[in-house]
Amino acid sequence: MKAAVLYGPHDLRVESTREPRLEPGEAIVRVASAGLCGTDYSIFTGDRPVDYPRVMGHELVGRVDAVAADVTTVRPGARVVVEPNYGCGRCPLCLEGNRNLCLSRRAIGIDVDGGFAELMRLPARCCWPAPDGAETDALLLTEPLAVVVRAVDRGAPRRGESAAVVGAGSLGLLALQVLRARGARVLVVSRTSRRFALAGALGAEATHATADGALVETARRFSGREGVDLVVETAGTADAVTHALDLVRPGGRVVVTGLPHESTPVPFFSVVRREITITGSMIYQDEFGEALRLVASGAVRTRPLITHRFGLDRIGDAFAAHAEPASIKVALDL
Ligand SMILES: [Zn+2]
Ligand SMILES: [Zn+2]
Repeated sequence: MKAAVLYGPHDLRVESTREPRLEPGEAIVRVASAGLCGTDYSIFTGDRPVDYPRVMGHELVGRVDAVAADVTTVRPGARVVVEPNYGCGRCPLCLEGNRNLCLSRRAIGIDVDGGFAELMRLPARCCWPAPDGAETDALLLTEPLAVVVRAVDRGAPRRGESAAVVGAGSLGLLALQVLRARGARVLVVSRTSRRFALAGALGAEATHATADGALVETARRFSGREGVDLVVETAGTADAVTHALDLVRPGGRVVVTGLPHESTPVPFFSVVRREITITGSMIYQDEFGEALRLVASGAVRTRPLITHRFGLDRIGDAFAAHAEPASIKVALDL
């Protein structure tokens, strides 16, 4: 079978590899479509080291090809969406439900081989049956959507509240839609205005480019008070965290879900004095089902976010496209 194998930073080769063989508890999935994200890009460049050789790919839709004899939860032929993270299931964190925080958590496409390949093997419990009628394209962003569902819900939005999303990449444009589905009014804040027309089409009531300054005034005008009730940060930069703290009102909540690699200065004086609640959010625990429901119901539209598609043979072009400012989500069609 064909797979894109990463042998080291920037050394990605599409080649013929051995077909995966089933172990107990596992399924083999024929991948239909795979999404490429910032995590894949940082693995590709070597910023995030992995054990080589490695097949990346963790945002996946496909069809079950075979299951081990002991698997009863999915059957061959079923269309599935892959939940690519799984905890050890035995540690105190896993047992209390915090499996996203498990110190032995494994991620498909990062710690073990993933889905930039025609076939992949994975624990059968990572396979979610695709909702009837939901198209592959729409389902392709289920995984990042699950990340965002958790982030938004950790901010406990209430109907009629004002919210801001910092960042207008794929996570930001998904967060906007989940906040809308929860009944919040949403201001989208981004470095540039490039995505603002799309943000508007997806339900943003207002937009603001940070390059224009005057963030605090914008938040006040939008909320009609001292700032917005809730900010969801998705951009993953130190600046984005600073912007989030500028946007939020006294007594408000900030959820940080981007992953800034640089250390981030936080003015704790203003956090304490204004009683801001800052919450981290790490991937997902039990949000995958809700993400599937939001896609299937049409409450979240993922298709407008897919800006590029390539066959597996052109995966090098796919990574180049990911780095272009015009791209939101790059898809690989297997
Ligand atoms: Zn991803
Ligand atoms: Zn564990």
